Amino acid sequence: MRPDKQEIIEMLSLTDKSQIEALYKKAYEVKKQYVGTKVYFRGIVELSNICSKNCYYCGIRSGNTKVGRYTICKEEVLAEAKWCHEQRYGSIVLQAGERESKAWTDFITELILGIKEISGGKLGITLSMGEQTEDVYRQWREAGAHRYLLRIETSDPELYTTLHPPNHSYARRLECIRTLKKLGYQTGTGVMIGLPGQTAEHLAGDILFFYDEDIDMLGMGPFIPHHDTPLGYLIGTYDPEQALTGGLKMIAACRIALRDVNIASTTALQALMPTGRELGLLAGANIIMPNITDTSYRDGYQLYEGKPGLDENARSSRDNLEQSILSIGESIGYDEWGDSRHYKGKAQDPTDKPS
Ligand code: SAM
Ligand code: SF4
Repeated sequence: MRPDKQEIIEMLSLTDKSQIEALYKKAYEVKKQYVGTKVYFRGIVELSNICSKNCYYCGIRSGNTKVGRYTICKEEVLAEAKWCHEQRYGSIVLQAGERESKAWTDFITELILGIKEISGGKLGITLSMGEQTEDVYRQWREAGAHRYLLRIETSDPELYTTLHPPNHSYARRLECIRTLKKLGYQTGTGVMIGLPGQTAEHLAGDILFFYDEDIDMLGMGPFIPHHDTPLGYLIGTYDPEQALTGGLKMIAACRIALRDVNIASTTALQALMPTGRELGLLAGANIIMPNITDTSYRDGYQLYEGKPGLDENARSSRDNLEQSILSIGESIGYDEWGDSRHYKGKAQDPTDKPS
């Protein structure tokens, strides 16, 4: 049944602490019932910060000349993938700024094939490479990628326009999401929460958008301003506590309204509070994406102020994360792809490996 917009607006507008706690508890019950309490890890490699786009919120936008640009070479990516596989993470995410040249898209194909090879086909592969043509998405799917993350950022076309330069197209982004679905990817999207001009009504509209587009996975996080961007002027009035609560309420509302989708507890939550990702799990999320990029590149991928996890691929921080997940009574789905139950409930490509 299509979720009720007014009910979602009410959840997102809660301000009383005990009512907000009750919302998280309700979402947790829904999570237990529909997806269980197993957390799946996706090791994320921030492959390159070179981007042809210039989104007003993002620290690695092409217009930010203060960032040193990098691309990690194939050997290093494969070494990171091997590490990820040895940690039994089950899945890897390759993320980068947006580039459409053939040299770049062929490089990604090579990486997909290489990761399949070093892991004996076991490591699941998610891509987050922005907007591409249908042919490119197909090429990557055929090479072995099976999930794709492309946030719509906001499902309101007018709000979208205020956050992007005029040559960035909402219509194309939406078309890309639909193409990914058509090609059989498990398709993830999401929004930033707390954007300037964004209301509870916009966010409720986003949840209906996820429902209407039949989305399998969600990656959402609080917007956090970056000083070298056009939205950097918001730093002075930014309230991290409010931003964290806004992000958690959105996770809870999505879990209650959409039930069986995978929902990531994102790094932006951790940026606002060291235990932010664990709070995300308790509000209804079931996926964590530990950063496995070599620490030498981390400075170059600062999307927002105070991005955490500078030593996250160290074994000690992996063990800490494991401990804190176990301490909230959840388990970890090691060596599993952890596919979205929502996706699994639909007709499948018979060549996909069950997890
Ligand atoms: N370039 C690809 C794209 O845009 O889909 C993938 C990489 S992009 C850095 C990944 C996500 O980072 C974006 O979808 C956006 O939601 C998020 N992001 C960028 N700037 C942010 C900010 N200031 N605060 C929170 N999230 C941000
Ligand atoms: Fe590029 Fe993605 Fe950042 Fe936009 S959000 S500037 S597309 S990396």
